[in-house]
Amino acid sequence: ASPARRTCRPRRMLSRGTFFAPAQDQRPPRHLGRLRQVIVNLVGNAIKFTDQGEVVIEVVEESRSADEIMLHFAVRDTGIGIPTEDQSRIFDKFATVEYRDNPRLTPSTGIGLAFCKLAIEAHDGRIGVASEMGEGTRFWVRLPLAEPSVAGHRLSSKPAA
Ligand code: ADP
Repeated sequence: ASPARRTCRPRRMLSRGTFFAPAQDQRPPRHLGRLRQVIVNLVGNAIKFTDQGEVVIEVVEESRSADEIMLHFAVRDTGIGIPTEDQSRIFDKFATVEYRDNPRLTPSTGIGLAFCKLAIEAHDGRIGVASEMGEGTRFWVRLPLAEPSVAGHRLSSKPAA
């Protein structure tokens, strides 16, 4: 399946704050609230650490059985990247990266990604990151969803002001 995509300039994307997974039907999945928070965290980070280029959300339904959908989604950006030595600890609580060249980016609590990992793993999913300094970052999530109708739900219905 090809990914469902919205490509926007980061600021525009922030002001829209909405995307759709491929439509099937309208029944909401059980864990939608937390999935939405994970996406908001990942997109927020992508926008924060990307000055130019793009932030793209990819959504792919990897497989589907009678009672489960395997959803794969990713948030990828063309931002500053995460140093290789930090990538393995970036999901730890309070883990932050020090940007000596850009102190404006350093203040951070390091809670967002720890929350994402907890939320995804609590629902038998997996989360990971691939990043190249100066090229960008791609956070991916694989998440089994029990309700076959999840792919059609609108993940956020309210455009941001
Ligand atoms: P916080 O909750 O403080 O935003 P996170 O846990 O979300 O912290 O992120 C921790 C750190 O991971 C950030 O301070 C940043 O250094 C790095 N990081 C997260 N997402 C990205 C990204 N898309 N590009 C570059 N660095 C990132």
